Amino acid sequence: MTNIYSTLKHNHWYRNCIINSTMADKNKKVYFCPKCGPFIKVLKELWTCSSEGPYKIEFIHHINKNAEVVDEVEIKSRPEGEKVEYSYCGKCNQLIGKEENMKWTNDIIQMELNQ
Ligand SMILES: [Zn+2]
Repeated sequence: MTNIYSTLKHNHWYRNCIINSTMADKNKKVYFCPKCGPFIKVLKELWTCSSEGPYKIEFIHHINKNAEVVDEVEIKSRPEGEKVEYSYCGKCNQLIGKEENMKWTNDIIQMELNQ
C-alpha cells in the first residue's frame, strides 16, 4: 500500500455506503445510500480482479443531480484484469453496493423521490 492509500483510508470520505443507479434520464447517474439517501458524496475505489488494492480513487459529487467525478487520485497504473469498483457513502462510510445493484436501487430511489 502506498502512503496515499493509507491516508485516504483514514479520511472521512472513506468507508462509506453508496448505491449506484441510473435515473429515468439515462444520461444521469445517481448514487444512493439507504441511510443517507440519494445525491450524497461518494468515494469510489477502482480495482481489478487481480490487484491487491485500488489503483485509483475517485471523488464524486452530484452536480445538477448527476454524479460527476470532481477529483481523482491515481495510486498506480491500472493492473491487468477486469475492472472492479467499490463505492462508499461520503457521510456514513459504509460500502453499500456496486453497479450490479443498479436495477433494484433504481426502484428504491423512485420510492424515495415519491415520498
Ligand atoms: Zn450513507
